[in-house]
Amino acid sequence: MSAESTKSGPPLQTSHALDFLIVGGGIAGLAAATALRRVGHNALVLEKGERASVRGSGGVRLPPNLTKILFHWGLKPALMQKALVSHTMTFMRYESGDYLGEHVWDTGILKETRGDYMLCTHDDLHDILYDRATELGAQVRYGANVVDIDVENREVTLENGEKLVGDVLVGADGEYGVSRATVVGQSINGHPTGVVMYDTVISSDDLKEHVQSLWKDNAIFTAFGHRHALLAYPIHDTDEIALQFYGPDNATGNYGDEPSVDVPEIAEELDVRLRLHMKKARKAIRVSVRAHDDIEDWVSDDGPLVVIGEAAHPFPPGTIQATAMAVEDGAVLAKLFSHLSENRQIQDFLYAFQELRQARTRAARAGEFGNVFYMTLEDGEESRTRDSGMRAKAAEGAHNVLEGLAGDVSRLWDQIRTIFGYDCEDEADDWWVQWGVLRERAIERDTEDQAASALLDFSGLTMQVTETATDESE
Ligand SMILES: Cc1cc2nc3c(=O)[nH]c(=O)nc-3n(C[C@H](O)[C@H](O)[C@H](O)COP(=O)(O)OP(=O)(O)OC[C@H]3O[C@@H](n4cnc5c(N)ncnc54)[C@H](O)[C@@H]3O)c2cc1C
Repeated sequence: MSAESTKSGPPLQTSHALDFLIVGGGIAGLAAATALRRVGHNALVLEKGERASVRGSGGVRLPPNLTKILFHWGLKPALMQKALVSHTMTFMRYESGDYLGEHVWDTGILKETRGDYMLCTHDDLHDILYDRATELGAQVRYGANVVDIDVENREVTLENGEKLVGDVLVGADGEYGVSRATVVGQSINGHPTGVVMYDTVISSDDLKEHVQSLWKDNAIFTAFGHRHALLAYPIHDTDEIALQFYGPDNATGNYGDEPSVDVPEIAEELDVRLRLHMKKARKAIRVSVRAHDDIEDWVSDDGPLVVIGEAAHPFPPGTIQATAMAVEDGAVLAKLFSHLSENRQIQDFLYAFQELRQARTRAARAGEFGNVFYMTLEDGEESRTRDSGMRAKAAEGAHNVLEGLAGDVSRLWDQIRTIFGYDCEDEADDWWVQWGVLRERAIERDTEDQAASALLDFSGLTMQVTETATDESE
């Protein structure tokens, strides 16, 4: 039996089903709803937008740490239908198109991760999760804008005045959502970095002459330039290429905004052979790269409200682990709550979730910021070292130019491997075995001790004796 299939059986079911109210029906909210239903909890997702408006048409890269979760959830066939498997990254210079080398994922390493590296679009992933969540009995309400959260009473208020109560409130409403502000006590929107990502798609027909060479074997094409970068990869059965340009910009923008940017305007520095075709690309969405200080608490002091996904840890847009961490969050939350047998455990499980997820997402986010800045390095000593290192490895015939490079690149690469190999559901189970079970035993022992001391407590009897004695003396 393959490592992948060992988890394909039904997961542990909770003996104490709760009602989870999930604010936000993005990837994090739908993943949490799917995972919670899988272990027997009830899930109601409240999404302020309509189904069509909350799905983006841009590309999403799905790393092995994400796909392995979806495989465990029985979603491999659905993914295989909508996503492409990729094994290769090709590196070029942004301005000249000079070849820097390629990196082919080591099959041994990929096998160990028990996942695949896959490419699809935001709306396809959204649909896969929505379909699974609703098949399992989760409810998703669109047009349900949550305007207030009363944590003590476990109640949310919708814009239309309707109030809804749950046992646990999950804030999956993104970096600007009401949940993050409720947990922190104020709105905190991070600060601009001066870097922006432009997200769009182009038909493969419009890049016909390059498709065979650049996107052979579903390769991810990465171009490093002076303060610019481009990531481009095939989607939709290779009919289209997802384009993500990074560059300097001080204008603001978010996912969900109308596409407003003409691609030729932002691709002025791009290698002319590709630039000529860019007028055929659809208008791009501008998404600011914002930096956020970590928030200390993901769980409200006032009761059972926890933030997940972008609401807990906003990532730079278009990065591979942004989506993966949102799905991991849902998976870990559900794994912990599969062990729930009494209400008194709720707050402990929410704090365990924070403990398990904070360090992991912090490391992944630092890596992703590192990647964005690494791809867009200004021309200088550092970028020359990066490029010459890759060129030298490519000249030796290496197919893994990221491996063994000097300094930071090597560190980044090691981090990527660790992040891919991680199995968040196993980590949640380990927490239960190492801490949860011990805690339960300690509580059981306390209860037994209390019961035993109640049995041995003769104080009531003493009172009676004294009273009787007094009576007799009278
Ligand atoms: C419209 C859209 C398109 C995107 N497209 C891409 C893409 O093409 N490629 C890519 O890599 N990433 C994309 N992303 C980002 C990606 O979804 C996230 O990086 C990651 O998946 C984590 O998502 P999340 O669910 O935590 O947060 P988000 O994706 O931000 O989802 C939060 C959800 O909460 C809802 N919400 C907010 N406030 C409230 C409220 N008060 N009441 C109820 N609901 C509320 C929002 O409408 C949204 O649907 C997109 C995000 C959005 C919102």
